[in-house]
Amino acid sequence: MPLALYNTLTRQKETFTPLDPLAVRLYVCGPTVYDFAHLGNARPVVVFDTLYRLLQRRYPCVVYVRNITDVDDKILARAKESNEPIAALTGRTTVAFQEDMAALNALPPDHEPRATAYIPEMIALIERLLLAGHAYVAEGHVLFHVPSFPAYGALSRRSRDELIAGARVEVAPYKKDPGDFVLWKPSPTDQEGWDSPWGKGRPGWHIECSAMSGKILGETFDIHGGGLDLIFPHHENEIAQSSGAHNGAPLAKFWMHNGFLTINGAKMAKSAGNFFTVRELLAEAPGEALRLALLSAHYRQPVDFTREHLRQVKATLDKWYSALREAGVTSATRPATTPPAAFEAALDDDMNVPLAMTHLHESVDALKRADSPVERERLAADVLASGHALGLLMQDPEAWFHAAPATPSATPSLTDTEVETLLAARSAARTARHFAEADRLRDELVAHGIALEDTPQGTRWQRG
Ligand code: AMP
Ligand code: ZN
Repeated sequence: MPLALYNTLTRQKETFTPLDPLAVRLYVCGPTVYDFAHLGNARPVVVFDTLYRLLQRRYPCVVYVRNITDVDDKILARAKESNEPIAALTGRTTVAFQEDMAALNALPPDHEPRATAYIPEMIALIERLLLAGHAYVAEGHVLFHVPSFPAYGALSRRSRDELIAGARVEVAPYKKDPGDFVLWKPSPTDQEGWDSPWGKGRPGWHIECSAMSGKILGETFDIHGGGLDLIFPHHENEIAQSSGAHNGAPLAKFWMHNGFLTINGAKMAKSAGNFFTVRELLAEAPGEALRLALLSAHYRQPVDFTREHLRQVKATLDKWYSALREAGVTSATRPATTPPAAFEAALDDDMNVPLAMTHLHESVDALKRADSPVERERLAADVLASGHALGLLMQDPEAWFHAAPATPSATPSLTDTEVETLLAARSAARTARHFAEADRLRDELVAHGIALEDTPQGTRWQRG
């Protein structure tokens, strides 16, 4: 079955045929770096990382670009508040973002451009728009003139009145049309700015993505992604700018949008105050549990976050890792690359991760029932390959169980080496038939929160 993806532009599932099958090009809008990312910000990262992994299995080369927005009003306001240079603030939060996303097993994109490194490209794009009659200069601003682009609104399918109301555009006397949006704006003298043909200023948010995607991926590329909230105005404006500057060439063939991560049904957002940062949740649960929580509904559906949900997905991972451990899988086990056909068919159907996950559960159940070494090896490979396709089951099963239960203050009371030393001493005591000493050592381990299980293959241990 060929890969089919839902295209927001056409509002239907379409067979995905790359523009260049030798190099599939994907652009996803990245974070605005002024603070720690919340779990909602991590959803597009995990969703499009899963797509990236899928495309990598289907095509010889995938070029994945995810930008960093490091110039923006929120950044300027935060830097002023904390009396910190802008570059120090954005540098620190970019590193924190990269660390948090790595903890969720998100692969780094092939390019991670920072907006401030593309100011000349933005200026050049704005100049093209001025030349083509799509933009005008007014009171130090450069604005995109929406009525000059008749296809405006095609992605969000809003009427002109809805567009204007939805954009909540500033009413500014210098705008020719209320829907016109900023490409370049002047910087007050005390704020960061760049020299431009229109004076010292800084770019609007939308032009940043048009300039970075155009420079790295070309005028037209395969897939553009982001969260549902970006369809309007951000993506609508990106299309107007890029197509307007490129003689009408489409910006992207496919537009994909992830649904929201919600709390009690409401979108998780900094502005609403109903958020948990990835950083604080990583202190409570392993990154793979957060990833599984984010993947637990179809990517276009909402996911409602609760601590109970997090506990359940952690238990699911415990079950999967336990099956792998029973099957003798270690970090040295050859990683299989091809998940079973039914699993892949589910992903080919607009990335139906919940259905793929059902097949993964079936493989785990079959693995637990397997009664021959050959069968066990084959099924363990299926489980591993399916897990890896979703960015899960990346750890050594033994290490998964040895990890300290993550709590905000969790510092293991015994290191792994100390546990192993006490276990070796207990084993020696038992061999020497010093049972009282063996029991004392067991009690000592238990007092430190280490659970022991004696099996024919030796003693297994687990924290918590
Ligand atoms: P921002 O830094 O606000 O521009 O957001 C970065 C990315 O996170 C964008 O793709 C947003 O659509 C996405 N995003 C923000 N909040 C949520 C949420 N609650 N659920 C899913 N995606 C979100
Ligand atoms: Zn963007």
